[in-house]
Amino acid sequence: MPAPARTPHERLVFTNGRIRTCAGHEPADWVCVERGQIAAVGRGAPPEPGGARHFDLRGRTLIPGFCDAHVHLTWVGLSFLGPDVSHADGPEAVCAAIAAWDGPGRGPGDAWIVGDGFDETTWPEKRLPTRDELDGAERRRPVVVKRVCGHVGVANSPALEAIPAGKHTDFATGRIAESDLWALNDRLRPGPKTFTRVMPRLTQLLHRHGITAVHDVTSAEMLRALQTVRAHGDLELRVSCSLPTDRLDALCAVGLQAGFGDAWLRILGIKFFADGSLGAHTAFLRQPYTDAPDTRGVALHDADALGSLLRQGDAAGLQLMIHAIGDATLERVLDCAAPLLRNGNPLRHRLEHVEVTPPDLVSCLADSGLWACVQPNFAGRWSQPGGMNEQRLGARLEHCNAYKALLDAGVPLAFGSDCMPIGPLYGLQSATAHPVEAQRVTPATALELYTARAADCVLATNSFGRIAPGLAADLVVLDGDPLDPVALQTVRVGATFVAGRCVYTADSRSRPPA
Ligand SMILES: [Zn+2]
Repeated sequence: MPAPARTPHERLVFTNGRIRTCAGHEPADWVCVERGQIAAVGRGAPPEPGGARHFDLRGRTLIPGFCDAHVHLTWVGLSFLGPDVSHADGPEAVCAAIAAWDGPGRGPGDAWIVGDGFDETTWPEKRLPTRDELDGAERRRPVVVKRVCGHVGVANSPALEAIPAGKHTDFATGRIAESDLWALNDRLRPGPKTFTRVMPRLTQLLHRHGITAVHDVTSAEMLRALQTVRAHGDLELRVSCSLPTDRLDALCAVGLQAGFGDAWLRILGIKFFADGSLGAHTAFLRQPYTDAPDTRGVALHDADALGSLLRQGDAAGLQLMIHAIGDATLERVLDCAAPLLRNGNPLRHRLEHVEVTPPDLVSCLADSGLWACVQPNFAGRWSQPGGMNEQRLGARLEHCNAYKALLDAGVPLAFGSDCMPIGPLYGLQSATAHPVEAQRVTPATALELYTARAADCVLATNSFGRIAPGLAADLVVLDGDPLDPVALQTVRVGATFVAGRCVYTADSRSRPPA
């Protein structure tokens, strides 16, 4: 594939600000960027070679670009193709957004209206919308609205008439969950051309948040779109891809291993689901849900089936990315993965979310060598007193999203958002002001987990994630110091650089010299 067509600044020196390198404790006063890479980092007066331009930070802070180690570009792309229900404050607001949508939808004839991302746990009534309510908003076109976790949705009558009866579909209420919802997602998925079209909007969104690299759980359609954009030299985002479980045989058959690709687009591994979500009461727990005492959630594979999938992926040289939220799941996954980890964990096999971690499992997890990719925004949104996690877990809230306990035990950790919502600064704020005080992490650690450690987790230690010579010049200017707990609460992205090229500025003073 050709190199990016856009020329990075030949030589740019960042000076006159705070530089948080996330690469050890040596402070730096300037950073010199050449041909898309960090050429030198130093103290004292910056070098004055001919031809170098200066970017005056004016006292602001320079950090490595954020790496969001768990995103779904496909979901974000799709969210541009339907009404936004993520800010709805009740079923009426969801219905109003549906009724107001007159744009093309998805599926055959672009007829389906799909709204993503509502969160009923924050609503006064804390209940899902119903089939009847959706019918009241739209009777002719099929409608599906999905909760923020992606594990549960609700459909109206025309939609329910068009889908087969599955074991997770309730025709009375319109509720669709887990595999039935995913089957519907597959049916409504647009082709690669649609995704190619939404890519500029998608990368702009990420750049606005200071994100320069992601680990994506990639659909085949999105992977094709990413390759098209990459081939035109327009990607401007470093994407590591994991494919869904049903692509495991295909990856093995062609012999693709973790790392195949280039600096912009790489295959990394396979994503497995071991359970569901706390929101949907489907994360698999040792003890029943506090607010649903008749259930402990669901394990999506028995131990034998999961063990054999993990063995196959590991033997093929693919990174295993295992969605494991409940403590019963964690216990099972640790058992299944143990045989693969006897000689260490060079592929950085990892667990995603790892939300419920009683102390006995924290030490087992630390002993295993598995990485944990966690979402601090989950704590910020759902671990507030009386919030969803406390409703679901009761006193177990203490061990929920237990970042400090995991770090103290030595579990290798990285941060990602799972797109709920995208926003590393919100993640840093949530991690440092964790609603469960004992699980707070320091601002310096939080920043590292969203940059350097996230890059380590996606096997990119030698490519990006730190401000150090030889690494990509993916950099973010912040208008405040993220290591100051007070400033962190209001800090904003001023500018984002990818491979030394400015791809986003909040205002004119953030623009690099012409
Ligand atoms: Zn996810």
